[in-house]
Amino acid sequence: MINLILFGPPGSGKGTQAAKLVEKYNLVHISTGDLFRYEMGNNTPLGLQAKAYMAKGELVPDSVTIGMLLNKVESHPDAAGFIFDGFPRTIPQAGALDEMLAAKNTQVAGLLALHVPDEEIVQRIKLRGNTSGRADDNDESIIRNRINVYKNETSPVYDHYAKSNKSQTINGIGTIDEIFGRLCDAIDQLIG
Ligand code: AMP
Repeated sequence: MINLILFGPPGSGKGTQAAKLVEKYNLVHISTGDLFRYEMGNNTPLGLQAKAYMAKGELVPDSVTIGMLLNKVESHPDAAGFIFDGFPRTIPQAGALDEMLAAKNTQVAGLLALHVPDEEIVQRIKLRGNTSGRADDNDESIIRNRINVYKNETSPVYDHYAKSNKSQTINGIGTIDEIFGRLCDAIDQLIG
């Protein structure tokens, strides 16, 4: 199995790039943000639990997020591998992912972090807000909170995988195809 973490702050292009990567590498894309939005859209108990956190740009509690992620992985028993997008966002989430993969005799192959400067992120998310219909994309203070949450709570996940030399930073500025090319080069090195 090839299991990749597509990492980076909100608005760094993870979703766009994940959609292209799954086609090329035949992997299953799991975005916890998309899963929460789907649950919210259907007013499920899980969606209702997530709603208040998402509206503020805070993280949904690990207990909720990890359970949802594990269920989703289990629903793809024949996957050749996964691209995790927006997960893990905390050290306990990373620990849960590592454990789950170890139980399947596999592991995270690499974490690819898209680097985009803060001001560029704010501009990109505001632009996306015009069409995404996402309340959390349409308020600058919430956007800035999401960036702070990334720095404070999520960036330690980069260091967690750096300990086993699995983390690398990819320049997230350029055209979609340029950034895709950089990601593919990194993945091709990882899968040899
Ligand atoms: P995203 O679409 O990845 O930007 O996620 C949108 C929102 O969903 C985040 O601001 C969080 O409120 C929530 N969320 C998504 N993934 C996670 C996660 N792994 N852990 C906690 N909250 C998450």
